[in-house]
Amino acid sequence: MSLVAVIVVVSTTARKDPSTDSSGEALRDLFHSDVDSQFNVAEKYIVADAEGEIREVITSLTESPNPPNLIVTTGGTGFAIRDITPEAVSPLLSKHAPGLVHGMLAASLAVTPFATMSRPVAGVRGKTVILTLPGSPKGAKENLQAVIKMLPHACLQAAGADSRKLHAPGLADLERRAGVAGGVEGQGQGHRHHHNHGHSHGHSRFHIHGHGHDSGPVRYTTPSEHPVSNDPSLGPSRRQRESPYPMLSVTDALALVKEHSPNPEALTAKVDSKLVGSVLAEDVTARENVPAFRASIVDGYAVVIPSDGNMKGVFPVTAVSHAAPGEAAPLKEGEVARITTGAPLPPRATSVIMVEDTALISMTEDGKEEKEVQILADGVREGENIREVGSDVNQGTVILKKGDQVSAVGGELGLLASVGVSEVKVYQRPIVGVLSTGDEIIEHDRPGELRLGEVRDTNRPTLIAAARGQGFEVVDLGIASDKSGLLEEVLRSALRRVDLVITTGGVSMGELDLLKPTIERSLGGTIHFGRVAMKPGKPTTFATVPFKTNAGEWTTKPIFSLPGNPASALVTFHLFVLPCLHFMAGIQPAGLPQVPVVLSHDFPVDRSRLELHRAVIVVRKDGTLQAESTGGQRSSRVGSMKGANALLFLESGPRPLPKGTRVGALLMGSIEWNQDDVRSR
Ligand code: AMP
Ligand code: MG
Repeated sequence: MSLVAVIVVVSTTARKDPSTDSSGEALRDLFHSDVDSQFNVAEKYIVADAEGEIREVITSLTESPNPPNLIVTTGGTGFAIRDITPEAVSPLLSKHAPGLVHGMLAASLAVTPFATMSRPVAGVRGKTVILTLPGSPKGAKENLQAVIKMLPHACLQAAGADSRKLHAPGLADLERRAGVAGGVEGQGQGHRHHHNHGHSHGHSRFHIHGHGHDSGPVRYTTPSEHPVSNDPSLGPSRRQRESPYPMLSVTDALALVKEHSPNPEALTAKVDSKLVGSVLAEDVTARENVPAFRASIVDGYAVVIPSDGNMKGVFPVTAVSHAAPGEAAPLKEGEVARITTGAPLPPRATSVIMVEDTALISMTEDGKEEKEVQILADGVREGENIREVGSDVNQGTVILKKGDQVSAVGGELGLLASVGVSEVKVYQRPIVGVLSTGDEIIEHDRPGELRLGEVRDTNRPTLIAAARGQGFEVVDLGIASDKSGLLEEVLRSALRRVDLVITTGGVSMGELDLLKPTIERSLGGTIHFGRVAMKPGKPTTFATVPFKTNAGEWTTKPIFSLPGNPASALVTFHLFVLPCLHFMAGIQPAGLPQVPVVLSHDFPVDRSRLELHRAVIVVRKDGTLQAESTGGQRSSRVGSMKGANALLFLESGPRPLPKGTRVGALLMGSIEWNQDDVRSR
């Protein structure tokens, strides 16, 4: 019985040639030989001196369902430019441990004044204690040795009370041997699987599978303790017979979607109709005034009002101003200029008189032009019927704010266009990949009769349509059969092409349900939830997998593995996938709007799970929204989605909800209205 340590070697050199790493190996020796060590080294990773890589490996280790007790890094703690380990690690720590830092520094200062040149940090993230050790084998060992006796105590406290309960005899023993009194506090829910399955699976997070692409930090040991998913190589007889994933509430699951959705990324986009749906990543200020010149609001005559304001009389028409570019001569008192709507006023003109307030007095010889008009208006004031410069939009004012979404209604595009903004920073809209899985699934339009067991692919057409309907670009990833190697390949190539992957099928409890194992064991992903207390959609799975961008930075990409049953897939898309897409696109608030509705008849409810009942909502005369069931709600019955514009949240309970009950509803489509109702309103 021992605590689990992971060594992270931070060295660009060792990353290229692992045989050059001696510090990591020195630490492994120390962990396994020091009399005070209670640690077993489960894994060693080698990452480059790159903030992203360091963070990625630490985040995925500490956020995995079975985080190690201790992570020690070695390297990157000095003053050289590339030394960034403390900077990478520090923000990840929820608790800092200056005492451990002091202990390490004090011990190595006793050996060499060069200890002052090390900048270690130490602390806790989640249930894991993290230390950054220097890069030299000697320094790393000295520092670790200085604190190794106290580390078990720190690790036990960080791991929390459940750990104690699970391994009570071992813990007491550890505490005794570390020379510390018992007293582990906290209430963590950690559940560490220390039982060894006596097998080793060649796949592992971060491991390069010989596919020839650079897929992440190199790993040298097998993750025998971390994956929660089934090991497919064990076959059906040894699969887990209960899902190992905790049953989360919809609320908790949604919180995890929010927490792990990638942040939106800004890019510069052209202002055109393709901008509809995008969210601005910056405030936009007006570059120009609208109107840019003094313009007439009406068709009529530009005039210069005399000081007494009396405009009644007959005036010669000395100029014409059409809505067209060009210079004009200044207007004089006693003259008028014919002007059209939107045309620039001649200089010095003070008002415009509507044509309706005038009469024609005389024409030119050829009868084609006006010579004189009579103004019938009295008490005309300065500025009448004139749009002053900048009176619609004032140059320099903020016309759209960061976070505003460009709608198809047109107002936002119109504002941008009117002031000559041709490019804006918006959040990139994620590209979605949709994959169906299952040996039984065939193309929906394959001609001919079905063979026994064949099922037409219903999920791919529906999900592609749903994602496109929400304004996202979609890549059709086809159908993958239930073979783990193939699934891994399909997902890897999908992750290179899209920003978010949706799969359906293969998340139930059968031996061919390969999504969770493939994501966890082959792609090195983290499963944030694998079971949700809802109907339909219980096995809905949300994971993120590490991914290296073209720029060499580490990010994560979400994978939603939705249940195979078509109604479940659509419900969980609207409930979980859509908010994630919204977070990624910067759309706020994320997810579908929720409205209160009144049940128009009794609704059955599930005894233990929240039901998302597909329903049709209509507007009643009194303005309330009334919900009617779409009928049979079995998860395989995609017809339960036909005509549905809402998902009702029906809490579990012992008896049906009576007609007239108010419940919350997620609005998926537009609300129907009864023409007779509306007319008589
Ligand atoms: P699974 O999660 O793979 O066990 O699938 C659950 C049920 O959904 C099975 O009856 C599958 O045949 C069905 N199913 C899975 N994928 C699809 C799909 N793309 N279209 C229609 N039915 C599916
Ligand atoms: Mg299947």
